[in-house]
Amino acid sequence: MYEQPHVLTLGTAGGPRWWGATPTGVVRAGISTAVVVEGKSYIVDFGRGAATQFQKSGLNIDDVEATFITHLHSDHTVDLIGFMLFGWMMTDNRTKPLPIYGPGDRGMLPLLSPVAEGEVTPIFNDLPTAGTVDMVSLLLQSHSTDVTDRMYDLLMPSPYSLWEPHDIEIPAGTGYHPNTNVSPAGMEPFTVFEDDRVRVTATLVEHPPLAPAFGFRFDTDSGSVTISGDTAPCENLVRLAEGTDLLLHEAIDLDGMMEMYKNNPGGESLDASMQHHRQAHTTPEDAAKIAARAGAKKLALHHLVPGTIGDHITAAAEKHFPAGVLIPDDGEKIYFGNGASPQVLPSAPAAYSML
Ligand SMILES: [Zn+2]
Ligand SMILES: [Zn+2]
Repeated sequence: MYEQPHVLTLGTAGGPRWWGATPTGVVRAGISTAVVVEGKSYIVDFGRGAATQFQKSGLNIDDVEATFITHLHSDHTVDLIGFMLFGWMMTDNRTKPLPIYGPGDRGMLPLLSPVAEGEVTPIFNDLPTAGTVDMVSLLLQSHSTDVTDRMYDLLMPSPYSLWEPHDIEIPAGTGYHPNTNVSPAGMEPFTVFEDDRVRVTATLVEHPPLAPAFGFRFDTDSGSVTISGDTAPCENLVRLAEGTDLLLHEAIDLDGMMEMYKNNPGGESLDASMQHHRQAHTTPEDAAKIAARAGAKKLALHHLVPGTIGDHITAAAEKHFPAGVLIPDDGEKIYFGNGASPQVLPSAPAAYSML
């Protein structure tokens, strides 16, 4: 008898930063989520520490059926190489390659920020916006000394015998354009992956200028979970999440970010950063409104920015979603199947925060 379907939060912080501790002393790892169904797991995103969090969670590489990347910002991909190279060593029973589904090359440079005061000179002119297939190849190539050594010394098979990258193909006719229409109105969710346990559908969400950016929904025989990816409030996501048992939505505390920038002047441009946060992310209140409109049964906020965010953000959000708003820590389970009321429970042997 399998444990009922659940999400296992491997990492719950967003943003390309090394965050400090929350008010209760928790240090969140970068965003990474496992969906566990009938003893098999499906991983979404590989943020900071994802490979270590995966190992600590008790999941096994041989039981991972597929992996998914919502978009190619580094806070979602930085530990993919750790997962790939160590996973290559840790597998001993795999009989088929493990797919990595992620965005393709956007195909053109992004538009310059409206607050830019001068030109930006692109680098990597041959491949300035690599998609998933190219990224996997480049990551493995950057470790060619190690890969070649393991193949000659340990007689390891090619890492491509384990990892099978795919650029997610956007259906024709949506009107998608990476600079002018990143999240086309009225778009139908489309199937990315399907096996005996899950059907994974995707939609294009609103995370400009980065594109394509996807939200994913996992439907099982006994319930569903929808993972927003990084997005501003987005109609396509409302549609994807319609009637879902659990919506895991990103959340940003804009006041908290303003405070942080004030205390750390210099570095990034404050104007450009706040402009990005407003156009590409969602506040807890807006995430709650999205969940209510989608008819989600439960809402959990993750990809928390700043990563030091405390539970105080739930009060404002719950006004718009009275069923309750969960703020999971890393290493927690949220059940969504069998009609169970989703709840946050520490994973066995205990919830962990490791970094
Ligand atoms: Zn992110
Ligand atoms: Zn992002």
